[in-house]
Amino acid sequence: LKRNPGEVEFHQAVREVLESLGPVLVKHPEFAERKIIERICEPERQIIFRVPWQDDAGNVHINRGFRVEFNSALGPYKGGLRFHPSVYLGIIKFLGFEQIFKNSLTGLPIGGGKGGSDFDPKGKSDNEIMRFCQSFITELYRHLGEHTDVPAGDIGVGGREIGYMFGQYKRITNRFEPGVLTGKGLDWGGSLVRTEATGYGATFFVDAMLKVRNESFEGKTCSVSGSGNVAIYTIEKIHQLGGKCITCSDSNGVIFHEKGIDLDLVKQLKEVERRRIEDYAKYHKDAKYIANGNIWDIPCQVAMPSATQNEINGKDAATLVKNGCIAVGEGANMPTTPEGVKVFLEAGIAYGPGKAANAGGVATSALEMQQNACRDAWTFEYTEQRLAQIMKNIHDTCYETAAEYGTPGNYVNGANIAGFIKVAKAMVAHGLI
Ligand code: NDP
Repeated sequence: LKRNPGEVEFHQAVREVLESLGPVLVKHPEFAERKIIERICEPERQIIFRVPWQDDAGNVHINRGFRVEFNSALGPYKGGLRFHPSVYLGIIKFLGFEQIFKNSLTGLPIGGGKGGSDFDPKGKSDNEIMRFCQSFITELYRHLGEHTDVPAGDIGVGGREIGYMFGQYKRITNRFEPGVLTGKGLDWGGSLVRTEATGYGATFFVDAMLKVRNESFEGKTCSVSGSGNVAIYTIEKIHQLGGKCITCSDSNGVIFHEKGIDLDLVKQLKEVERRRIEDYAKYHKDAKYIANGNIWDIPCQVAMPSATQNEINGKDAATLVKNGCIAVGEGANMPTTPEGVKVFLEAGIAYGPGKAANAGGVATSALEMQQNACRDAWTFEYTEQRLAQIMKNIHDTCYETAAEYGTPGNYVNGANIAGFIKVAKAMVAHGLI
């Protein structure tokens, strides 16, 4: 705490992982001897830089850019970039720390990192977004590379932003190096299924948790928060698996549509027209828009928070359980507060923490890197099959590890322990670096 003052989200993420690791250190004294805990909590490198840019009226703005290269024991640093006004070092470090274990769980050769800026993309013109992305990458490019550090998208960074950053990287380095960024367009090195991957993957994970309990999505009423990349493709897969999603939201309010969310409309509003979710209710008179509403007050059987960190607190978790929720799968990173997690675990419902449930995005990014490395492009069906298999493996690994360490059904412990052991073993093997 003294070493990283004020970084509350980072403290929260570290505490949550360390709480699971006691039994691991007993079984593996070499991890304590080699000070793995102390080393894993300290990023290998943190880069903070100035990002100057000009708006359309010619005014100069200065934002702060970040890249935290947290751990490269398993492969090049890998993790998204977030553009949101709330971004500061504590947010990027929490996300980077989580990313280490998530990436380990995928079984693919990727280390952990995260980056972003306190730039607010809302209300900016396309040209302003382009100028910002170009300025951002003009500094960051020197730290990136397909074998070094490979960013992707996150909140506020989608295909458009990755395109502008890739273009500037290519221009500065004079290299067409597709493996340096993931989430690229399909015509220039992107992978099918990457756009859908986090939402689809989270839904596959919940499906696996439901199957363990002899349940399925068929006929279930589901609630998804957010209306961005993760939320949209979570809703799509829920519908494909026979569930009905009745909500979506943004930071201004909640849409409640009992008949089921009209996903084509959400895609049109958010992906094409970049409008607010409030406008959904203009097209469906039977849908309700609740300004500043609490989405978790709406009863559902499956909840999939897909917006941002700490969006479900202890009270929300208790409301969900009381209203009959039997499964929670986190599409977002750390969307449940520690009090909320406690409620879910004590209630014994199926609770899939983000670092396991939303690993499908980064896993498919690693599949994009594989395709880039051999200059290939796989079909949608094949790539989705790979994603489904990876999510099933992550689920089974967490489930089995939780049981092995004496807490059957506790996916939090399962994910933390399984993710940690692989990285810790690699760090021991690499010596004191
Ligand atoms: P997007 O920017 O596409 O969408 C974010 C959505 O969440 C928007 O609807 C946004 O509403 C809402 N939101 C953001 N901040 C807040 C806030 N403070 N309060 C309420 N709502 C908010 O981002 P993604 O869908 O990519 O990311 C969503 C979550 O999933 C994040 O936690 C991210 O870290 C995580 N994630 C994403 C992955 C990916 O592949 N994209 C991979 C793994 C995890 P508004 O427009 O009002 O801000």
